[in-house]
Amino acid sequence: MVAHVKSTDFHHLDQVARVLNAASRIVTITGAGISTGAGISDFRSESSTYTRGDRDLLRFSSLQNDRLKSDLYRLLHRARSIATAAKPTTTHHFIRELHHSELLIRNYTQNIDGLEQKAGLNNDKNVQLHGSLWSLRCMVCNHTTPWAYDDQAILKERSEKCCPRCLRRSRERVERGKRATGVGMLRSNVVLYDEVDQHGNHFAETINEDLGGIPEIVLIMGTSLKTHGIQELVRDFAEVAHQRHGTVIFVNRSQPTTNWDGILDYWVQWDCDPWVQDLGQRGYQPARRSTDRICQVGRTGNLTGSCRTPSTPAGEIGTRHNPIDLTSGEWDSPIDLTAVG
Ligand SMILES: [Zn+2]
Repeated sequence: MVAHVKSTDFHHLDQVARVLNAASRIVTITGAGISTGAGISDFRSESSTYTRGDRDLLRFSSLQNDRLKSDLYRLLHRARSIATAAKPTTTHHFIRELHHSELLIRNYTQNIDGLEQKAGLNNDKNVQLHGSLWSLRCMVCNHTTPWAYDDQAILKERSEKCCPRCLRRSRERVERGKRATGVGMLRSNVVLYDEVDQHGNHFAETINEDLGGIPEIVLIMGTSLKTHGIQELVRDFAEVAHQRHGTVIFVNRSQPTTNWDGILDYWVQWDCDPWVQDLGQRGYQPARRSTDRICQVGRTGNLTGSCRTPSTPAGEIGTRHNPIDLTSGEWDSPIDLTAVG
């Protein structure tokens, strides 16, 4: 069973805040729901401002037809104009604060709007699973390059630009007396609906590194978990987190299917921004963990290490949770660090 937490369920909202407060290794996985507050519509939902025709354009086959390609780039340009004017939401700032407080292992996002970077999240902490509106990618070697305004004008006119890396390689070969090699064309770096993600291997390496970091919290926000890639990602992170008594928190308006039983621990049925604001009102602020607060919960659930009084007020948030037994429907009392050491 996934624990269903409504916006009026103060007891469990407190519990989620305590669980978060005790964690020093957090992975966030985000979707369109964290950007809707910035006025950015997702492509699929019922409230989307994009039409079915727009969605149909977002296919790899559109790149193989001049007219469709032109329409596709016009659509991406429109999305880019909206993203340019948009400001990051409370949730984007929250993720940035997790990073600045050294709590964030990585943010994995399905969003292409770049609001994470605008909020101040470093590129190396932000994996854009579906690419970006702000870069171009070579169709041969996958080299990415910023999508500057001039390039945008070029692409809109359908006269494409060659990949600088492919060009350089080919020229170097010719200079060495070898045959020239093929030079790829640059295209939008947005992953289209019917294409295999060519960045898969790169992401796999990062994901494996992060799985090795064993997150204590997997925090999923603003995604309906419908695509295969995100489902695999959540399952993998949930598995390693649960092996070490970590917690998987899902914040989204729509209900997860029963397939997620045993994978998600909490479903907070709320929009992301008000939930993040509520977290702050419950005393949770991302804060760097001092070394004397880094305690390990052993396999037996006992605390080890040097645990001193946390900086947060006693009895409020300064606690580390025991593993929650979701099968019995019972909630373990959190361990109060003020009572230890
Ligand atoms: Zn190339």
